[in-house]
Amino acid sequence: MTVRVRIAPSPTGNLHIGTARTAVFNWLFARHHGGQFILRVEDTDTERSRSEFTDNITEGLQWLGITWDEGPFFQSQRLDLYRQAIQTLLDNGLAYRAYDTPAELDAMRTEQKAKNLAPRYDNRHRDLTEDQQRAFEAEGRQAVIRFKIDDDRVIQWHDLVRGPMTWKGSDLGGDMVVARASSVEQIGQPLYNLAVVVDDMDMAITHVIRGEDHIANTAKQILLYEALGGAVPEFAHTPLILNRAGQKLSKRDGVTSISDFRKMGFTAEALANYMTLLGWSAPDGAEVFTLAEAAQQFSFDRVNKAGAKFDWDKLDWLNSQYLHATPADTLVDLLVPYWQEAGYTFDLARDRPWLTRLTALLAPSLTRLTDAVEQGRFFFTPTVTYADKATQQLTQDGVGDLLQAAADAIAAGAPLDSLEAGKALVDTVVKAQGVKKGVMMKSMRAALMGDMQGPDLMESWLILHQRGFDTQRLADAIAIARQSSSPVPLPHEARPSS
Ligand code: GLU
Repeated sequence: MTVRVRIAPSPTGNLHIGTARTAVFNWLFARHHGGQFILRVEDTDTERSRSEFTDNITEGLQWLGITWDEGPFFQSQRLDLYRQAIQTLLDNGLAYRAYDTPAELDAMRTEQKAKNLAPRYDNRHRDLTEDQQRAFEAEGRQAVIRFKIDDDRVIQWHDLVRGPMTWKGSDLGGDMVVARASSVEQIGQPLYNLAVVVDDMDMAITHVIRGEDHIANTAKQILLYEALGGAVPEFAHTPLILNRAGQKLSKRDGVTSISDFRKMGFTAEALANYMTLLGWSAPDGAEVFTLAEAAQQFSFDRVNKAGAKFDWDKLDWLNSQYLHATPADTLVDLLVPYWQEAGYTFDLARDRPWLTRLTALLAPSLTRLTDAVEQGRFFFTPTVTYADKATQQLTQDGVGDLLQAAADAIAAGAPLDSLEAGKALVDTVVKAQGVKKGVMMKSMRAALMGDMQGPDLMESWLILHQRGFDTQRLADAIAIARQSSSPVPLPHEARPSS
């Protein structure tokens, strides 16, 4: 048997982390078994489905590296198939038209509530005579088509995650609607449970892997497989993703869509890796792996029944692992869109080597790609704003002269194309000015970076120098130093006697 699985998102919103994680598990299972993974867009809800959501979903899956072998198929293009199946159910007496008005259904539910009964359809139109039907049609009522569910049926399956499952027909809410707004002449809008079974049969799906919120649907769908003469596939219901408080992760928790995670600076590899760990663990205990590596080891034996808590710290940790392991030459391409988005000016074609050098400098301190926006900001502007601590450093006695000496050396063409050259320049100035090297370095940091902390000074200087920004900043810093009305004495080293 060739394994055939599918992801069947509804394009009623952006690609949700829950759907993406389900897609990951389907993909891992398909790849583990050398099977096929199919993408099917469940867009039968015409009011809520939008093509921009379809685009967001397909782009999100592609970005994550979840490639599909067939599709995307669109349910909206397959309505005839569903209507044929419904007609078969009607012809075989397994479904019927029910003409209840919304008001009648409401009254029924109110009565059930008053009696403390669970809400259900009481199957009152199951056995209408032709005359009754005609009378309802003559009244202009629109029917829904209901599939018969016998209360005394017991539905069982062996879930690949949850083990043996049993549902009673009486717990499924009465005969279920499979198509809306129908008349004797025409079958209206087919609904999810029917369409999904027709498609899973037609696409020869062997394993239905989806979130545990679909368990009750599975019981209903098994009845539909039987009614339509299809082979019942295997089912695996994956655990929900929970927030810190242990509730289902929802929009209220902030980001939930893959495009949001991307905007927040997570890499596709880290996010896909993290989603794999949301409910599954590798037999060898590994936590950092590619999807292809996970696929080799994937099985449902190691998927938890309990909900999977979403752990931002873990995701951040994984993301930093990926960022630190990515060569600067590749990482730069991931950072450029964030720098562009932030409005930083550079010419990608011309400045790529410079951007790569900057990337190498920042990489060790990045957790998310977005961190490079703040940490990189001051490399993209000729000038910098001076923090109080930097100003304090600049206004110490003698710093103006010190910086002037450095500026003169640069103006005289002292090379600044390597760390060695930079160090040589510093040594020369330190010697000539008779100051401690630490003072020189602190003053240069204040002058060039406007702050007393930050990335490696020499490397930062070389990067700024390549765009000529060091000269401008030295000039600004010297002006600050010279303006100072009450200079603080600089701790001079004993001047050389000669
Ligand atoms: N369209 C359904 C959803 O997005 C698909 C469920 C299924 O996989 O059958 O939840």
